[in-house]
Amino acid sequence: MYEQLPTPFGLVRYGVAPDHPEVRHCETKLDEVAAHTFSGRDGASSEAVGFEFVGNVKVGRDVSLLEMRGAYDAIVLAYGASQDRRLGIPGENLSGVTSARAFVGWYNGLPEFRTWDPSLLTRGNSVVIVGQGNVSLDIARILLGGVDALRGTDMPEYALEALSRSTVRRVHIVGRRGLFQLACTLKELRELLELQTCAFTGMHPFERWRKVAKVGRARTRMHHRLADGSAMVPTAARKKWSLDFMLAPACFNARQRIEDGGQIGPDSPAEIRDLVGVDFEKTEFANEEEEDRIREDARVVGTGNYRSIEAQLAFRSIGYNAEALPGFEELGIDFDTRTGTVKNFHGRALAKTQPAESDNEEARARSVPEAVPGFYTAGWCKRGPTGVIASTMMDAFDTAETIAADWTKNQPFLNGKRKQRLDSGVDLGGWTGGAAAGGGGGGLKQLVQEQRGVQVVNWRRWKRIDEEERERGRRKGKAREKITDVAEMLEVADRKVQFVGVG
Ligand code: NAP
Repeated sequence: MYEQLPTPFGLVRYGVAPDHPEVRHCETKLDEVAAHTFSGRDGASSEAVGFEFVGNVKVGRDVSLLEMRGAYDAIVLAYGASQDRRLGIPGENLSGVTSARAFVGWYNGLPEFRTWDPSLLTRGNSVVIVGQGNVSLDIARILLGGVDALRGTDMPEYALEALSRSTVRRVHIVGRRGLFQLACTLKELRELLELQTCAFTGMHPFERWRKVAKVGRARTRMHHRLADGSAMVPTAARKKWSLDFMLAPACFNARQRIEDGGQIGPDSPAEIRDLVGVDFEKTEFANEEEEDRIREDARVVGTGNYRSIEAQLAFRSIGYNAEALPGFEELGIDFDTRTGTVKNFHGRALAKTQPAESDNEEARARSVPEAVPGFYTAGWCKRGPTGVIASTMMDAFDTAETIAADWTKNQPFLNGKRKQRLDSGVDLGGWTGGAAAGGGGGGLKQLVQEQRGVQVVNWRRWKRIDEEERERGRRKGKAREKITDVAEMLEVADRKVQFVGVG
């Protein structure tokens, strides 16, 4: 398992909100696999067999897919969606406009966003979140829930300290479509409604929608819950939040208004001008029939009327995007830049189709894309950035079954079919051995670690980081205190374990 950071668990460690520790339980599964690996052979081996964690190694920088190809039978691309989508509207680069990904990364201790500017939390009291998915609700809960509820979690101290000084009092969670297209789920909505620190405003429209009976059970429950309102009444609350519907973001405004959709380019001084508000174009349903308005895929159009919402801080929370890895082109792996996914069939990565020789459209449509032998995909880069952890698990099972079926059916893999491979007796070597990738017999490990000087973090070394984080947490009465600097992680990972004699 290759990972660019010295730590495993990806989005589970750096994307799941700190106050949702139960969601992180899936980490124990990987722990179990790794533990089994360690004791699996003779217990004396210092190198893992069966499963190997190759941390602090970035595929495409420290080792290429082409180099890896010779060392394995199959490679599963499960690198998630690490870019955030942009709105492409004026003012997006203003100081005060930030991505949900950056803020979530910051409060979760992701090294890349350790330097997110916490002074944005004290610029004013009004916040706009563009998008109404679960990430938006996570952000609203962290901003409004009160820092005391987070103290025992693994949220880094710097984030707790900054949030305790936050002046945010009002959060607008804004959607370009309507109530029936709300992208979040009931559980997350309920959590926000049950907070004792803030009130949900603007309940009246939901009373009206309560009467619509034609939507599924899950949506009906969500609407009923919204109509019931928050635990706190708005008049008594110091902090408030709302769901604002049918508003498409049009422009972020700075102290000096950006007239006529003025272009904000990378060289413009936008970053040094402060956000004061967001302009939205009011939308209406493309089809006003009730049947269509309650559909999840209902379309909206602009009305030419606008509404401004005051905000000193705005989050772009409209989903994530995956990018192609270096090497896809050479390997012929088809990456769909529109959806940000590896084109696949049940996890089998598909090859770029050659344009059919015939000019005949029908003949071209008939050409079935072939798989790239040995390459598979799972997770958000397989199906796009949607779904909760359970959906990602199901999706991984689907890919695993495909791999097993291909092996059983003697389909071609990276280095030939199963039968040929087993008959040849060649040891591909994986990370530690074999003659792969010109590594001179030492495999990829020798190539990456010795020839390229990369400080690789294996599972044992990660465990040292893990233990150090738990120890730092224990001292502060919290689950763990994450190390948020890669150099410090590497220093801890390589620290010799001190044995203290007894007696
Ligand atoms: P999401 O669920 O896809 O929601 C994206 C939101 O952004 C939608 O409201 C969408 O509206 C809006 N949007 C997209 N493009 C827009 C644009 N150009 N202008 C205005 N609005 C736009 O994405 P997410 O919140 O980032 O979550 C990603 C996935 O992670 C989801 O499956 C989510 O459930 C999951 N997640 C789960 C949890 C949890 O279980 N606690 C926590 C966080 C995330 P439209 O519908 O109109 O496109």
